[in-house]
Amino acid sequence: MKILVVSDVHANQVAFEAVLAAAPAYDALWNLGDTVGYGPQPGACIDLMVEREATPSLAGNHDLAAIGRLDLGDFNPIAQTAARWTAAQLRPDQRAYLESLPSMATAAEYTLAHGSPRSPVWEYVTSDVIATACFAFFETGVCFIGHSHLALFAALDVARPLATIKALRAGETLELGSARYLVNPGSVGQPRDGDPRAAYAVLDTDRHVITAHRVAYDIRTTQRQMERVGLPDPLIRRLRLGR
Ligand code: ZN
Repeated sequence: MKILVVSDVHANQVAFEAVLAAAPAYDALWNLGDTVGYGPQPGACIDLMVEREATPSLAGNHDLAAIGRLDLGDFNPIAQTAARWTAAQLRPDQRAYLESLPSMATAAEYTLAHGSPRSPVWEYVTSDVIATACFAFFETGVCFIGHSHLALFAALDVARPLATIKALRAGETLELGSARYLVNPGSVGQPRDGDPRAAYAVLDTDRHVITAHRVAYDIRTTQRQMERVGLPDPLIRRLRLGR
């Protein structure tokens, strides 16, 4: 089976469509959350998740904020502005979709969590210490995570009791051996690892490999959409920087 793994689409429809067009034929689509927030097309991105039958599909902190399940006081002022705008755009059925999503799930022999398996909504897996601790909070060999918008992985095995975070570069293939892994495919709609192209991963369950991909998309179109609806400037600028 080939599985397309996406995360942090962040209402960037142009980027999401570029990923769907570039990805190989897949048997399942897994979504690690934050389908909305920051970007200009929240409803259209939810509709695409529904249409493409993303299962599991997770709720991230921005999805929960958009439906009033998270206190906006936990967001910085720019994220608050975007979250309020996002909440006002959704149809009732789109809100109901977000309300139905868990923040952590298992599919076959894989775990999916938005932030981390230890704290699925909020925790950022950005240090070796955090990564290592997280392995105690899932039972499968691999746990996919999102939230940090950084394409990365960390492996833990008997020989390496301290997991080390490594960047997952475009085109890189991770051969899943006997170790256990945390894998972040990176962000579709707002990458923060210096590469502004949309990020995604493909899991091949037969060959037991994960490949990391990047696809260029029309950033200017997304930026124009954001300008048109008055989303904050720093959110518009960062798309070009990939930071
Ligand atoms: Zn996010």
